Amino acid sequence: MGGLQDGEAGAGGAANVDELSAAFERLYGRVPDGVWAAPGRVNIIGEHTDYNEGLVLPIAIDRRALAAVAARDDGMVRVASRQRQGDPVVRELSDLGPGRVRGWAAYPLGVAWSLADRHGVSQGADILIDSNVPLGAGLSSSAALEAAVGLALADVAGRDIPRDALALACQRAENEVVGAPTGVMDQMASLLGRAGSALFLDCRSLQTEQVPFDLDAAGLALLVIDTRASHDLADGEYGDRRAACEEAARRIGVPALRDATLESVQNLSEPLRRRARHVVTEIDRVQHAVRLLRRGDVAGLGPLLTASHASLRDDFEVSIPELDVAAATAVEAGALGARMVGGGFGGSVLALVPAGDVDAVTAAVEAAYELRGWASPLPFVVTPAEGARRLR
Ligand code: ADP
Ligand code: MG
Repeated sequence: MGGLQDGEAGAGGAANVDELSAAFERLYGRVPDGVWAAPGRVNIIGEHTDYNEGLVLPIAIDRRALAAVAARDDGMVRVASRQRQGDPVVRELSDLGPGRVRGWAAYPLGVAWSLADRHGVSQGADILIDSNVPLGAGLSSSAALEAAVGLALADVAGRDIPRDALALACQRAENEVVGAPTGVMDQMASLLGRAGSALFLDCRSLQTEQVPFDLDAAGLALLVIDTRASHDLADGEYGDRRAACEEAARRIGVPALRDATLESVQNLSEPLRRRARHVVTEIDRVQHAVRLLRRGDVAGLGPLLTASHASLRDDFEVSIPELDVAAATAVEAGALGARMVGGGFGGSVLALVPAGDVDAVTAAVEAAYELRGWASPLPFVVTPAEGARRLR
């Protein structure tokens, strides 16, 4: 099967409903019951705050995974992806669970399992995925895939599961079946996102608020620059930072760094002091960003993004030169602010750019990379888009 390869952003044509339905028919010899879509996301601000029970501010983006799905009544699930070669992966629902599936199919099959296990939705199905969310670029292609499949399975089973519960079911699939220790932000953004809004999420209470985010009115654009850099250290360093945050909270005597203050952090020894300072100041920046957006000041986010990057680079120490150069060059070329997004040690930079300067900023970052002999970065503009829904 054709479709997008890893790392290819695609022109938006990839997630085409008619084409996917036709491919579904060729593959499974039947017509899908429907097609469901779920977007990727980018986190505007609030990095490494989720597992500290802090605050985040993601948006759903205009790149999405599609799932064409037809119900089966024999308890089998078959999954294929237009981004993956080979025959569908076939499993019995009763044979799914932690440790039972390897590779990409663990994401959709994990969702089928967690819906059955926690929500009594034991729904066999034929599933075909297509996505134009770049895989592994930090835009959460994984949550887009999970949310599209989760919503589809619930729908064909005739079950109306609240969006936040569905997000938790998707997260559980990723944590327990895929084995990735991620928070619930990605799934919440994909399932609860709204066009023209950012999703203010409290990772402790899981309370959400839609905050107006009108880029057009402000004459601004969000530019994502996938550095295509990656670092073998990423997983180990992530675990190390989580452990440091837990240790810092323990020494301060609070349940999580969410409860720490700048004063309480001062007494820690290094490097815990810097790690904790990032979390405390970053949570503060999220609150500041939300206040700005509530009064329509999108441009005001710029300096917060740049401050977030400095904190991630100097205090949390999860940046790499590719991220630093992209962020700094974007700002020099006219961006109002820029920061690395995601866990660090690779992935993407997010820049807030006057709409007319997108090309200039892109060109400047490309030139800076070329000068250093680095592989050219992949830039693309994203807008706040609608969360997961049924398309047909
Ligand atoms: P991110 O979510 O930031 O894109 P992850 O590592 O969390 O990165 O998830 C990427 C993984 O999700 C891929 O390696 C693949 O296993 C799976 N995945 C995501 N989208 C697809 C897709 N369209 N087809 C097949 N697998 C996918
Ligand atoms: Mg992911």
